[in-house]
Amino acid sequence: MTTLVAAGATDVGRVRTSNEDQYLLVEPLYAVADGMGGHAAGEVASEAAVDALREAFEANPSSEGLVDAVRKANRAVWEQSRERSDQRGMGTTLTAVALVEEDGDEVLAVAHVGDSRAYLLRDGELDQLTEDHSVPEELRRAGRLSAEEAAIDSRRHVLTRVLGVDAEVEVDTFEVVPHRGDRFLLASDGLFGDVADEEIASILRHRTDPTRIAQDLVATAKDAGGADNITVVVIDVADDDERAARASARVKSQAGSNPSRPGAGPASVDDLDDEPAPRAVLTEARPAAARADARTAPAAEAREPRRGRRLNFATVAFVLALLAILGLAGAAIVMAARDSYYVGLQGEDIVIFQGRPGGLLGFQPTLKERTGLRQADVLPSRVEDLRRGKQVASLARARQYVEDISEEARAAVPPLVAPDQPASTAPSPTPVP
Ligand code: MN
Repeated sequence: MTTLVAAGATDVGRVRTSNEDQYLLVEPLYAVADGMGGHAAGEVASEAAVDALREAFEANPSSEGLVDAVRKANRAVWEQSRERSDQRGMGTTLTAVALVEEDGDEVLAVAHVGDSRAYLLRDGELDQLTEDHSVPEELRRAGRLSAEEAAIDSRRHVLTRVLGVDAEVEVDTFEVVPHRGDRFLLASDGLFGDVADEEIASILRHRTDPTRIAQDLVATAKDAGGADNITVVVIDVADDDERAARASARVKSQAGSNPSRPGAGPASVDDLDDEPAPRAVLTEARPAAARADARTAPAAEAREPRRGRRLNFATVAFVLALLAILGLAGAAIVMAARDSYYVGLQGEDIVIFQGRPGGLLGFQPTLKERTGLRQADVLPSRVEDLRRGKQVASLARARQYVEDISEEARAAVPPLVAPDQPASTAPSPTPVP
């Protein structure tokens, strides 16, 4: 049995007059929600989301149940915002984790929409587990902004995904095998907007209980300005009953025998359906290799303290050889997934993706280049190819293909759209009042 010890804290901050954040702490489910919408609407949104999340998860306490619960939370906020004109346009972030059983092992399932965050402090190292669904962060992941530019971008409060503005929402989800000594943190942007990650890490490293840690984090954000509501949930893995080592072994053996389900790497819900999701691609752009490594790399497992067992030289040599083979196999998969291109559709736009259509073993394709062309600019006979993703050997070939189909259409009919029409360069953001 995995034993978790958790605590939460929330504060209105020094500037706002009301607290629109919510946190949830009902073992084994934990969440942070940051509502928005002005007046009382933000509070209504985050509270409705957290209530719906809790109710739906209790009915189906599993990884899939957690994702489904986030979708139901979305629906609850959306329906409520349609009923009352003063709550129209309200929305909320939601970052939820739950300890669930998967194939007989306990894992921490994470489901996430918006710009609240989940972090993991493991072996003293802080890792941000979730990706912010904000305009500059999406652009950074697509390679269009540097980390420095993204951090000061004026659009950092404009969210690209949020609960409650649409009937459906795409939910990021992945699982983490919890190890004894792990410290998870859920936080609204009132914390990391004012406090640097290094300082958050240094507070989390203190050897005190989660209640103290949560209070310290909130107090630090207030001292740093407290410009926004501040909410944190701290979850310690107090004991894992040696289960983490067994679960890690299981993840490895699964990764070897069942390539369609790669262990505990980050995966969007769409991966499970194994179908290309063009609308989601820009928001799925992530350094998949690096992030997957952080959670499933053999090196991380090698740090596992193996107490009460003596290792002889042959065992060590065998394990090292196994790790080397796993590492090579992983590198080959990453190469295959990344070293290819295709031309496809993102909505109506024709764009060049890096990767394979639909992804390969959990490595999602990323947007490489926009072409300025739209579906209507090419012959209808090309559209099916684009919809499936036209695979090519290199970026140069991809550009050539785009030029060819554009030329072909120009030769056939007068252009429907002026050829110098500027390309859109930003993901369509959800404006947040
Ligand atoms: Mn906030």
